[in-house]
Amino acid sequence: MSDKKKKKLTTASGIPYAKNEDSMTVGPRGPVLLQDFTLHEKMAHFNRERIPERVVHAKGTGAFGVFRVKHDITKYSRAKIFSKVGNECPVFIRFSTVGGEKGSADTERDPRGFAMKFYTEDGNWDLVGNNTPVFFIKDPKKFGDFIHTQKRNPKTNLKDATMFWDYLSLNPESMHQVMILFSDRGTPYNYRHMNGYGSHTFSMINSKDERVWVKFHVKTKQGIKNFTGPEADAMRGKDPDWAQGDLVKAIEADDFPKWTFNIQVMTEEQAKAFRWNPFDLTKVWPHGDFPLIEVGEIELNKVPENYFRDVEQAAFAPAHVVDGVGYSFDKMLQGRLLSYPDAHRHRLGPNYEQIPVNRPLNQVRNYQRDGAMRVDDNGGDKPNYYPNSFDDIEADETAKEPPMKLESDVADWYDRNENDDDHFTQPGVLFEKVMTDQERENTINNFVGHMKGIGGPKREEIIRRQLGHFEKTSKELAMKVANGLGIDL
Ligand code: NDP
Repeated sequence: MSDKKKKKLTTASGIPYAKNEDSMTVGPRGPVLLQDFTLHEKMAHFNRERIPERVVHAKGTGAFGVFRVKHDITKYSRAKIFSKVGNECPVFIRFSTVGGEKGSADTERDPRGFAMKFYTEDGNWDLVGNNTPVFFIKDPKKFGDFIHTQKRNPKTNLKDATMFWDYLSLNPESMHQVMILFSDRGTPYNYRHMNGYGSHTFSMINSKDERVWVKFHVKTKQGIKNFTGPEADAMRGKDPDWAQGDLVKAIEADDFPKWTFNIQVMTEEQAKAFRWNPFDLTKVWPHGDFPLIEVGEIELNKVPENYFRDVEQAAFAPAHVVDGVGYSFDKMLQGRLLSYPDAHRHRLGPNYEQIPVNRPLNQVRNYQRDGAMRVDDNGGDKPNYYPNSFDDIEADETAKEPPMKLESDVADWYDRNENDDDHFTQPGVLFEKVMTDQERENTINNFVGHMKGIGGPKREEIIRRQLGHFEKTSKELAMKVANGLGIDL
């Protein structure tokens, strides 16, 4: 191109400038002049390129796509997206590991984040799930302590099997998630070949104002595929960004990954009679009793043009449900309702929902104004208070939920329903009835390999405590892990 046709380089304020690679100097050999403003701008902006890393789920990738409704669930939910078979809405999904830093390997043994944003005509619905249906803890007060033990030792700055197992063995409600984590599902082959789960119990509300409890299951159409422990370790060294690369390459080759979108439904009466607490994040609802109901399909078909803009700045919040979907008593869900928007305000600022990937399709109308990085019209000249005599905005009473009935007292509860402390039946069924012989063997090897890293003066105490949980889960599991660790049970 001739010089005339090329576009001109500018500063951030739009001023064309003459030299991009040479600083302004006194003579060709320097020194540099303080007045070279473009030099300051380049250096200063570079120094500020990083925003706070997510404290969990730091390493991730994402893609845009579409959600298609294929079956009628209007008897459960009045959400507009479900109002007609054939309805569609755009989606953005971010996949991630949990414990590792932004530069860590994709194949670490870890749950995988599976965060979905549905851009519906009623606003954004975020279903912020994982690739496992349960979690390590069932009370949000434990979260910070738990995560510390999965990260680095405060002195050595190393991942530390001793603190990892010390905490888990002192927190037996983790047993179900620990079993899944140490099965080959703890090292998924990539993000396309794994399921996603909303994990928490949510509710759905229909047009008659009737509530049912629901769980969300997003099942891969690519089939489940996992690395074995040794394969995952090898890939960590060979290609730490393996899963990121896999997703980008598949979508760029028009091999669009798809998942079916399903719900399990429990009535309020069934919830009262359920063997376990239906709002306990360490438990599943057995499929035999609560079969999956297929709703639709998710397809991912577009890699974001700019990773930072769309993936790094993506902000999901379980609090964001649309009319027709509601919360439940699940304590972890209740904790996450607060913690996610709080994290985004810290990482991205109070106006994080104006960032393009987080912006809803419909018009936002409220009286919140100003704040750092307010980049829309900030309400223009319209009133910034309510009630007022000038605009015609009113609360939408049709979005009102039916009451959730409580039969309890406010207290610090210590005596729970005895089945709320049954941490072992469900992981026992998984190990003994669901896993194949090969999966059982791999799970045992994965436990043994990791628990060999437990060291220090408390080594035997920690191992024996964890073996005690294994024993209550499956005698075979306890015996074989003990053998592998050279411990006499
Ligand atoms: P089912 O036999 O109907 O379901 C078993 C489920 O286990 C399937 O969803 C299967 O997923 C999943 N699964 C298979 N291998 C593993 C693994 N290594 N780690 C995690 N999940 C695995 O039985 P139930 O519904 O009665 O559940 C039995 C046990 O299965 C539960 O105690 C729980 O541990 C586990 N499970 C149950 C789920 C549920 O929502 N009911 C969901 C996931 C696990 P897929 O079909 O994709 O292969």
